[in-house]
Amino acid sequence: AGRDDVPAYAGSAHPAFDVHAVRRDFPILQERVNGKQLVWFDNAATTHKPQSVIDRIAYFYEHENSNIHRAAHELAARATDAYEGARERVKKFINAPDVNEVIFVRGTTEAINLVAKSWGGQHVGEGDEIIVSNLEHHANIVPWQQLAAAKGAKLRVIPVDDKGQVLLDEYRKLLNDRTKIVAVTQVSNALGTVVPVKEIVELAHRAGAKALVDGAQSISHMRVDVQDIGADFFVFSGHKVFGPTGIGVVWGKREVLEDMPPWQGGGNMIADVTFEKTVFQPIPNKFEAGTGNIADAVGLGAAIDYVNKVGIENIARYEHELLVYGMQQLGAIPGVRLIGTAADKASVMSFTLAGYSTEEVGKALNEEGIAVRTGHHCAQPILRRMGVETTVRPSLAFYNTFAEIDLLVTVVKRLASARR
Ligand code: PLP
Repeated sequence: AGRDDVPAYAGSAHPAFDVHAVRRDFPILQERVNGKQLVWFDNAATTHKPQSVIDRIAYFYEHENSNIHRAAHELAARATDAYEGARERVKKFINAPDVNEVIFVRGTTEAINLVAKSWGGQHVGEGDEIIVSNLEHHANIVPWQQLAAAKGAKLRVIPVDDKGQVLLDEYRKLLNDRTKIVAVTQVSNALGTVVPVKEIVELAHRAGAKALVDGAQSISHMRVDVQDIGADFFVFSGHKVFGPTGIGVVWGKREVLEDMPPWQGGGNMIADVTFEKTVFQPIPNKFEAGTGNIADAVGLGAAIDYVNKVGIENIARYEHELLVYGMQQLGAIPGVRLIGTAADKASVMSFTLAGYSTEEVGKALNEEGIAVRTGHHCAQPILRRMGVETTVRPSLAFYNTFAEIDLLVTVVKRLASARR
């Protein structure tokens, strides 16, 4: 008998969301690890792919594979349609006003590097200031740090309170006429804090700065509306939203993107080349030099179709119930310290267990087939702010169940009582 015979949404007031049905769409969830059925609590690192995404990528290579834009033959047309269809899906998913504002890149890391190199290279100078929050993933720190070092600019950091919530009053004090850009995550990958990005963006704009929102951890957990958020850039990775690796998105406001120089040069992004001069394509091609990850963009489009079918509101509601339950259960175990207890949280339940290294906890969980990440989660500054170097980090997706949380809690309880 699988673990799925335990009522999965015991306690849920929303039976319209059928977790058993969605689980059947993800073949890897049937995988066995150490003789046990896999429990995947490493969704903040990457998410699994529904069969429809796997099939869509196979279909591309079986029936559509070609380079795009360049050749006037049938498969080139199919590949181009598939690729541009994916761009259209991204546009709708994040409510972008214009499909040409959607640029495909490798992932969030490349997306932030693109903005830092292109926009930052043009607009940030000596004595200027860049603001990030204490919560950021290294991908939203290092490119800005590199830019600041190259330009003689300064990186300033919005502090957080002991629960891991950004301190807006402190942020207000950081803003001044030297502030060129504010780059913040919408959800912390290490703590799960949901950041009030709309307010942060508004304050940045009032100070005359641009704003970038890192959506790597929000895109799969909540409705994202880039027009409502109001930022100049919104970035995310396909693999964190049930799509493939190697594909991600920069969304930017048309007028901001049009004003930016290309960051890489080569084929696809040009309108005309002579040895004297190159004329670039308009957006988005201007930022898509060379052959892109066509098949995986198409896979991302299929992932978006899948999420739309399940319904992002259903996902958000169900995951919230799971998270509240998980935090209560874990928090009640003697010796467990929950790291990151913001009032508004998504997906992530970081903790430490007295008497154990986080690695030991991770190993014990792995023996039971439960995958969690242990370590610094590429977010060392925030863990140090919380007084730790590493945590155990279970992170939820909508295919997780209450029964899986019970299993996690059982193993952690067993470890806790063995040390008492
Ligand atoms: N930003 C956040 C908040 C993340 O959680 C991650 C990945 O964990 C990244 C950026 C980097 O994403 P990628 O490795 O897909 O480029």
